[in-house]
Amino acid sequence: MTNPFATHDVFNQSPPFQDINLFASDEALMEAVAREGAAHAVERLNAFGAACGSAEAFERGRLANENPPRLKRFDSQGHRLDTVEFHPAYHECMAMSIEEGLHCSAWDDLSEPGTQTLLGANVVRSAGTYMAIQMEAGHQCPITMTNAAVPTLLLQPELARSWIPKVLSRTYDKSFKPAMRKRGVTIGMGMTEKQGGTDVRANSTTAVPAGSGGPGAEYVVTGHKWFMSAPMCDAFLVLAQAPGGLSCFLMPRFLPDDSVNALAFERLKDKLGNRSNASCEVEFQGAHAWLIGEEGRGVPTIIEMVMSTRLDCAVASAGLMRLTLANAIHHCRHRTVFQKHLVDQPLMSQVLADLALDVEAATALSFRLSRSFDRASDGHAAAWRRLMTPVTKYWVCKIGPALAYEAMECLGGNGYVEEGLAPRLYRELPVNAIWEGSGNVMALDLLRVLQREPETVAIVMDDLGNATRGDAHLKAHFSRVQGLLHEPRQLDRRARDLTEALAVLAAATILRSHAPTAVADAFIATRLSALARHTYGQGLDWADTRAIVERAFPR
Ligand SMILES: Cc1cc2nc3c(=O)[nH]c(=O)nc-3n(C[C@H](O)[C@H](O)[C@H](O)COP(=O)(O)OP(=O)(O)OC[C@H]3O[C@@H](n4cnc5c(N)ncnc54)[C@H](O)[C@@H]3O)c2cc1C
Repeated sequence: MTNPFATHDVFNQSPPFQDINLFASDEALMEAVAREGAAHAVERLNAFGAACGSAEAFERGRLANENPPRLKRFDSQGHRLDTVEFHPAYHECMAMSIEEGLHCSAWDDLSEPGTQTLLGANVVRSAGTYMAIQMEAGHQCPITMTNAAVPTLLLQPELARSWIPKVLSRTYDKSFKPAMRKRGVTIGMGMTEKQGGTDVRANSTTAVPAGSGGPGAEYVVTGHKWFMSAPMCDAFLVLAQAPGGLSCFLMPRFLPDDSVNALAFERLKDKLGNRSNASCEVEFQGAHAWLIGEEGRGVPTIIEMVMSTRLDCAVASAGLMRLTLANAIHHCRHRTVFQKHLVDQPLMSQVLADLALDVEAATALSFRLSRSFDRASDGHAAAWRRLMTPVTKYWVCKIGPALAYEAMECLGGNGYVEEGLAPRLYRELPVNAIWEGSGNVMALDLLRVLQREPETVAIVMDDLGNATRGDAHLKAHFSRVQGLLHEPRQLDRRARDLTEALAVLAAATILRSHAPTAVADAFIATRLSALARHTYGQGLDWADTRAIVERAFPR
């Protein structure tokens, strides 16, 4: 008998968005990987893309975010615990990313001293990050920080000798015990204090030598950090005021005698997004830590870590944008409105294509930046890395939230409902612009390069100038950027103008040289023109939007 309360059949809803190979379905990613020097890793990335896009992996991502971490400050008898409990799905994501080497593979050559830096290692790692972030974003925080901590650790050889082999392990060991008894470790970072995150020189946390002091020596640290993410890491790079000024320390969770170090977790932040990742407020109550480098050299010592995390922010935002776009295209291919699939409605086709242009540009820029981390010994790559890290981080991370909002709207009401992917992606994207140097800080970093390293700017502008040959729009935009560079008056007020103009120029040159004509033409015509655009879906009436959408997410 039919159910008398069943009032309708469910139809015209898109099927679940899952079981998608995040590598094989992404032409722009595959081309970027090959172009930027990592063609040798295609097979491995293909397998990882299938794993990250599986229904099980997406379910893991959902569970890890719907069951956020919980702080355990005390046990039932009142003893301090200072541990954080995560849902098993979070640990599964960690295990998967660590097995893939996303926390360290850029440094694989360190396991065999004397070998050359592996060409393409950063590009391969970025491709893995770009896909793992689509499975689940929050767990990438400790993964990113661990990879980024390596160059800072290397500055203090005796610390590097004991910690780097543990970092290079491909085994995720979630147990809470001394690092040297674990099969693998993760490393976090504590710089931000209540009174300042950007201005770390205002740090009030103090470090007093336990003995004679100096590089590699033990200090006693007292103070706090206002944001310290992934508190279950095995050690943290922290900044504190030593007698000789702001300095960088390695602070382990356990001391050499196996006792727990004096880190007291006060509470976990209740965050807009990034909910699977724990970010804590912590007090250092006479915690022990070991000095890396010289006293007073804290910022230059930790800066290498920061450069790497900025690269990851851009790659992560590009990956998340890619997922929001693919999800929107998938929906619009299945949803019929007024007897036509949404994807075939001219206005929707324009919106989707317009979103796809930004994703393609963000991907191209992020992977060009990754390559510059691989070839840091080459002068051109080193210049690109220095100048374009803040530029790429600024632009890619900033366009993400607006893109996620528009992609959400493509799904109509379903886009606004928590069971779907769109709300989580929308809440996740802003954080990449805020942490690791927010927008203005990136623009100011660009100014710093202009003022202190004119030769770096000259190399990059030379390369960009060569790439504009034969395209009048590109040339005109290049002249505009040159104009901004050579008009030093009030450059401090126009730093954002310059940062964005440089990012768009660099993206356009890569697309012009390597993307299909339909994509490059549309990007250049809309992003480099004088047309004032504040929302997506404009200025593309002449473009082959169907081809752009088809390339973005092939059927
Ligand atoms: C989810 C999350 C996790 C985090 N995890 C960590 C962590 O693990 N470790 C850690 O150390 N920190 C962490 N942070 C902190 C983060 O790095 C800081 O919030 C960030 O650096 C900004 O510092 P602030 O919050 O003190 O803001 P402020 O430094 O006060 O900056 C506020 C605003 O002012 C702008 N600004 C700063 N200087 C200038 C200037 N000269 N001119 C114009 N504008 C300026 C900034 O761009 C920003 O927009 C985390 C933050 C978040 C949201």
